[in-house]
Amino acid sequence: MRGDELAKLEPALGPAVVAAVHFPDEAQVDAQALAHAIPAAARHAGAQFRRASVARLRIEGRRVLGVDLDTGLVAAGAVVIAAGAWTPLVAGAALPADAIAPVRGQMVLLRTEPDGVAPRAVVFGPAGYVVPRPHGHLLLGSTMERVGFDKRVTAGGVASILAHALSLMPGLAGATLESTWAGFRPAPRDGLPLIGATAVDGLFVASGHHRNGILLTPVTAELVADAVLGRAGAIDGSPFRPSRFSEAES
Ligand SMILES: Cc1cc2nc3c(=O)[nH]c(=O)nc-3n(C[C@H](O)[C@H](O)[C@H](O)COP(=O)(O)OP(=O)(O)OC[C@H]3O[C@@H](n4cnc5c(N)ncnc54)[C@H](O)[C@@H]3O)c2cc1C
Repeated sequence: MRGDELAKLEPALGPAVVAAVHFPDEAQVDAQALAHAIPAAARHAGAQFRRASVARLRIEGRRVLGVDLDTGLVAAGAVVIAAGAWTPLVAGAALPADAIAPVRGQMVLLRTEPDGVAPRAVVFGPAGYVVPRPHGHLLLGSTMERVGFDKRVTAGGVASILAHALSLMPGLAGATLESTWAGFRPAPRDGLPLIGATAVDGLFVASGHHRNGILLTPVTAELVADAVLGRAGAIDGSPFRPSRFSEAES
């Protein structure tokens, strides 16, 4: 799509954008809303939540007995490690330290009202994206940085995100910069997530989803439920088995 057709569909795009591919069925998930909805649904189904730091896994022989918090043992027949980029650091996880590494992503939130220069759809450019959100908000992303667990937002990071967005949509120059933040994508060493049973009985992993952890939430939940309940699922999860790392090193 180019020219008048493109300008009509997405008037916020500037003259530097000469062509685009339009996906009319493209949608977006609000990650914050999802992060509220999932615990609410789980509570409704009988789950209990405890906000605490896991000091280590309690393992005896080849079987996990639960997790140790500062306050003592929480006994469990099945334990799922879902600690994102910190997963290999959970004591007892038995994964190589570099199985999953943090990749920092910085984000910028703009507010466009009352100017109204916001795009109508999610716009992916060569080095990032612009995501329209309710009430005139726009999410701009992002950087890909291997800087360990350094969660700072940097001048260079924000500059590159803004430069990219403004190259796509120069009209955003007058928007209000509302906030910035950074997070860690859990990047697996071999590019595939770690989902399923480990060599320790009762111990499972659901981690390493890198840039797609929100998108892959439903399929991950299905694979983990299949693994914990020991049922043959509809999806072949074998490429994602966490034990591939210990197999590779033995
Ligand atoms: C800037 C940015 C943009 C992104 N955009 C997208 C996108 O558009 N679409 C998409 O699908 N994904 C996106 N992602 C990726 C997505 O956010 C991740 O894949 C996802 O959050 C991974 O989920 P997780 O639960 O495995 O890890 P996390 O979300 O990192 O959660 C792990 C949790 O474990 C906790 N934890 C760690 N150690 C312990 C311990 N010892 N005890 C107790 N708790 C512990 C941590 O505090 C953390 O709360 C993006 C990520 C970033 C940074």
